[in-house]
This record gives sequence, structure tokens and C-alpha cells, in this order.
Amino acid sequence: MSEGMAIVLSAPSGTGKTTTCKLLREKLPNLKIAVSHTTRTIRDGEKDGVDYTFISQKEFEGKIENKEFLEWARVHNFYYGTSFKSITSNLQDGHDALLELDVQGVESLRKMKYQGIYILILPPSIKEMETRLKKRGTDSEESILQRIKTGKEEVKKYKMYDYVITNFEVDVTVNTILSILQAEKVRAPLYTPTSPDIEELLKDGVD
Ligand code: 5GP
Repeated sequence: MSEGMAIVLSAPSGTGKTTTCKLLREKLPNLKIAVSHTTRTIRDGEKDGVDYTFISQKEFEGKIENKEFLEWARVHNFYYGTSFKSITSNLQDGHDALLELDVQGVESLRKMKYQGIYILILPPSIKEMETRLKKRGTDSEESILQRIKTGKEEVKKYKMYDYVITNFEVDVTVNTILSILQAEKVRAPLYTPTSPDIEELLKDGVD
């Protein structure tokens, strides 16, 4: 069986990432979500083990020491990390896996030449991002300012990604991601012959 694809998704806070991921999960029931570990506090509506695995700073540092993370970063004063466990077996079983990472996580994965499709979702404007964060009502004024600052830095790093999508409308964004995934699956190097006669032709194929 061929391995699944890792889909690495980043989006500054207030870009509509949560809704995008929820819709993606509905459209792609076989997609496995790599549930990250974090030391930040749980928000209303979030579930431990589903949205994140919420752990203490001490536990997180223990996991860093035990080399349990594919990557980890400090974002907005909290730790966030993707464990090897949350992803490897899914990919080996042929499932595609979605990793939601900030830019530092993407930087680490790119450095280690981690195979995947890297997608960045951006807000139509910084103003719009601020409006969405305020409307969400889950963050303090200070936290909103910090998230905007981080968001601006993330926009500047857009060249690390394979695809950049501006989230004007979430349905369109989700359809764009689905199209990207479809196209990635039929890349020429991934082609496998579907019949003995085609397989025969490939044996004396030309480069
Ligand atoms: P939030 O607290 O709003 O859920 O997430 C804050 C930021 O942390 C987002 O940019 C999100 O993509 C990022 N993040 C979530 N999980 C991970 C992870 O496992 N690793 C890294 N590097 N960033 C993560």
C-alpha cells in the first residue's frame, strides 16, 4: 500500500482555520488529523484529545526530552508540538494526515525536508483578521494584539509554502484545498499502472 500524504496547513489566528478544517474533515472522512499537544488552556467548545491534547508545561518538556515530537514550537507563550505518534502510523496505513502548524513548525519541517503539501491560508486583510479575532471573543485585547503581530510575520513567510489561499469565503477555500489534493494525487511520479498492458509499456518507457 502506498503511504498517505501529509498536508501541512498554516493560518494566522482569525483566518478561519478552525471552520476550514471542520469542513475539510466532513468532506474527507478518511483524513486523519494529527492532534497536537499544547500547554495553553482549553477554550470553550474545545475537547481534550480532539482539538489538542492539553498537557502541563512539565509534561511537555518531558516529551521534548524524550524526543517524542516531530517538531515543536513556542507560540504566544505556550508550547505546541506534533508528536511522531500522532502522524506516522496514519501515513503508513495509507491515510492522508492533516498537520496544523505555525510558521516555526513549517520552518523546522522544511529544514528536515519533510515530505508534504504545504498550504498557507491568509485573511483578505490584517484589518479583517482583527475584526474576526474581536468577534470570536475568546482572546484578551493583549492576546489579540500579539496574534496580529504574529500573523503579520506569518504573512511575510509565504514563500515557504507550496500554495497560498486567501480565505474570502470558507466554502471556496475548502474547494480549493480539495482541488489541490486531487491534483497532487495524480502527479506523474506517483503514477502506478492499472493494467498489465500498460505496465508492459512502462518497462520500455522513455524519459
Ligand atoms: P491556537 O492556540 O489559536 O489554537 O493556535 C495557535 C497557533 O499554534 C496556530 O498558528 C496553530 O497553527 C499553531 N499550532 C497548533 N498546533 C501546532 C503544532 O503542533 N506545532 C506548531 N509548530 N504549531 C502549532
